Amino acid sequence: MSAAALAPHTDTSVLAPGPDPADAPMAARPRLLIVDDIADNRAVLARRFERRGFEITEADGGHRAIELIAQQAFDLVLLDVMMPDIDGMDVLRRLREHHSAVSLPIIMVTAKSQSEDVVKALELGANDYVTKPVDFAVALARVNTQIGRKRAEEEVRLANEALRKMNEELEERVAERTASLASANDRLRLEIEHRRQSEEKVHYLAHFDALTGLGNRVLLRQQLEEALVRVRRNGGAIGVIFLDLDGFKIVNDTLGHSVGDALLKAVAARLQENVRDTDKTARLGGDEFAVLQSGDSQPRSADALASRLVAVMSEPFFVDGHQLNLSVSAGIAVMLGNDADPEQLLKNADLALYRAKADGRGTFRFFEPEMDALAQARRSMEVELRGALTRREFELHYQPLINLHTRRIAGFEALLRWSNATRGLVSPAQFIPLAEELGFIAPIGEWAIRQACEHAAGWPQDIKVAVNLSPVQFRSPSLVPAIVQALSASGLPPSRLELEITESVLLDDSDRNLAILRQIRDLGVRIAMDDFGTGYSSLSYLRRFHFEKVKIDRSFVSDVAQNAESRAIVRAITGMCNNLGMATTAEGVETAEQLSCIASEGCTEAQGYYFSPPKPFADIGALLARSGQA
Ligand code: C2E
Ligand code: CA
Ligand code: CA
Repeated sequence: MSAAALAPHTDTSVLAPGPDPADAPMAARPRLLIVDDIADNRAVLARRFERRGFEITEADGGHRAIELIAQQAFDLVLLDVMMPDIDGMDVLRRLREHHSAVSLPIIMVTAKSQSEDVVKALELGANDYVTKPVDFAVALARVNTQIGRKRAEEEVRLANEALRKMNEELEERVAERTASLASANDRLRLEIEHRRQSEEKVHYLAHFDALTGLGNRVLLRQQLEEALVRVRRNGGAIGVIFLDLDGFKIVNDTLGHSVGDALLKAVAARLQENVRDTDKTARLGGDEFAVLQSGDSQPRSADALASRLVAVMSEPFFVDGHQLNLSVSAGIAVMLGNDADPEQLLKNADLALYRAKADGRGTFRFFEPEMDALAQARRSMEVELRGALTRREFELHYQPLINLHTRRIAGFEALLRWSNATRGLVSPAQFIPLAEELGFIAPIGEWAIRQACEHAAGWPQDIKVAVNLSPVQFRSPSLVPAIVQALSASGLPPSRLELEITESVLLDDSDRNLAILRQIRDLGVRIAMDDFGTGYSSLSYLRRFHFEKVKIDRSFVSDVAQNAESRAIVRAITGMCNNLGMATTAEGVETAEQLSCIASEGCTEAQGYYFSPPKPFADIGALLARSGQA
């Protein structure tokens, strides 16, 4: 290895050997401390090293050297062993206490003969030695070697330091990055979780009823489709049961929505207690519920379940300190074959429910194909009924009421007819329930009152007119004003107008309806109880309101001559009415035999085909003339 190869480096590269300091720019000149008590020795060396590009500091003794080294940084110390103030070996020992051989290379200058000095110096940590008289070439080579090594080591150290720092930074950055990735990851996970939750919520809201926690119509529809797929594959049958609470509206209206809601929850709970795990329950809205039943023993199991549900729902509910008694109506549609359309099945259950409700509370009905036909007929009738009033398609027919003491006409009952271009004359039994359901009954009924008053105003003074009132009309705020208006417009004295109501008026919302009845009677209008003996037919109703008249239902009159029970009922009603000072009218008298029976039981009035069927207004004048009352 040449001296040049070990020369002090001026660049920072550790591996590439730098140029000889003699011909290299002295960017970092090696700093040499020459320690010798003899000035000439120092001067010779200093001059020669300076020429080689070294920066020289001289020290004339050991103490001075130690002092300088404490103040400044040197690349190398040339240290004479033999000095008077302090021995070079001592200086070396002291220096090594603070400076390692790497950080401060020290070359000892010894006498040629003193080889034990060399050994000792090396033991004390000298890097190398030169002998006196100094051969400059040897000294330069050794100095360069030491400085080269020091610089190389320094660069390695620096490089290592830089590397370490870089590593540290890198680690820090990696840690930072990892942390930010982790937090991004956390955020993402959180977001995914939120999204999952909100999707779950959306899914829940879309498929479940928030109040009861049961499935909703959408879910039921899906479950039905899935069940149909299973049945097509594996066979079996499906039953759909629709349930509707009877009387829920009254609870909601009278006790408030929170009780209503609590009741719906209780119904839902009772519903779930009474179905099997494999049955699906749903709340379809309002007070309508459904059960989807699969299995293969249909229609038997739907029949059993529906009758159980009807039974358990009629047991009282205890809600918010109230004991609530309701009943439930149920409609059942069963699918046995493979060709079922889910929509049709749901529709059929609905139709069956409609029928069950129409047939009375607390019952259930299976779907029958006629129901569908009926429903279609209803729909088309609905369309035509909507415009019937404005098209002036309604007319009133009149049936005489005969006073059984005088055998003269006491008045006429107005009976509504719908004369439709395609349907001909439609019976009120067909269209009045529909008009009630669709909310048309109020305007139609008010028209009938106006029309009847107008007609009757032209009849003799002692002839009354009776008009039927639908219970639904009691919900209309225009009922009483319409009566007042009809009377004043026609000029008919109020005592000649009689309004016929049915028991159901006293059944639903009876306090309110009783108040309306009193308002009407205060006008001077007479009020008759119609169809008495049907429905709830409680004689106690007759005590709640003083009716002017009670009309005994046709069903009792038709067999009064043959059936002892009917006759007993007629007798009870007339007896009670006579005691209460109410008149009684026997409806549907068709034969002389019936007439004599009801007359002997004390009925005060009769009506029926035996006297006359209902007739158009145009025929009334002739009818009155024939009985000598025109
Ligand atoms: P309702 O009030 O009981 O009327 C008596 C019904 O019995 C009438 O049927 C009448 O034609 C029928 N009738 C009378 N005598 C006999 C008889 O001897 N034998 C038989 N078999 N039937 C007889 P209509 O006219 O078909 O009316 C049916 C129901 O429609 C009425 O029953 C009444 O509840 C309702 N209604 C009729 N007009 C109106 C109206 O203007 N408003 C309201 N809300 N309902 C009405
Ligand atoms: Ca009537
Ligand atoms: Ca009647």
